[in-house]
Amino acid sequence: VTRLLMMGPPGSGKGTQAGILADRFGIPAISTGDIFRANVRDGTRLGKEAERYMKAGDYVPDEVTNGMVRDRLDQPDVADGFVLDGYPRTLAQVEYLDDVLADQQVKLDRVVELAVDVEEVVARLLARAAAEGRDDDDESVIRRRQHLYASETKPLIRVYADRGLLSSVNGQGTVDDVAGRIAAALGAPG
Ligand code: AMP
Repeated sequence: VTRLLMMGPPGSGKGTQAGILADRFGIPAISTGDIFRANVRDGTRLGKEAERYMKAGDYVPDEVTNGMVRDRLDQPDVADGFVLDGYPRTLAQVEYLDDVLADQQVKLDRVVELAVDVEEVVARLLARAAAEGRDDDDESVIRRRQHLYASETKPLIRVYADRGLLSSVNGQGTVDDVAGRIAAALGAPG
């Protein structure tokens, strides 16, 4: 059983790396961004509530996000572990996740931080936005999301470091390079 968090700024490639880890450990990758986008696509109440925040590059309120994550972590496929990608993003979410895991009498094993150069990430996101036409990806929204990450989410890395859970990995380079570094940091054969 492996319970992991992936942290890093928007565009750091954490979704890709979460997917690789999920395959390797045979556990689900849980991306709150993906769950929100699926709900927006399906026109659910949750999606309608989340959409305006997402479009502005703001965080969806904790009360909405937390309940959604608890529901997901209560699903049976999570019993063998999970990789959470994009959650927690606020201190209140850290505390909420602590409560959910305590209720399940389980613990996180590791928090992986992808450390990247923010200007390089912004350039990559602008290129991706142009290619995909994502409407949450114009330049001001991209910068807003990076700013929110720096002010609200980056401080959480310290919280997990203080708990002795953090592995900080250089996130620059190819997908394979970064995957190899993560594997090494997790102490498993790459
Ligand atoms: P992501 O794909 O992880 O970048 O998430 C896309 C968008 O979904 C974010 O910009 C937020 O608006 C929203 N979102 C995803 N995860 C969270 C979270 N943990 N807390 C609040 N909002 C979130």
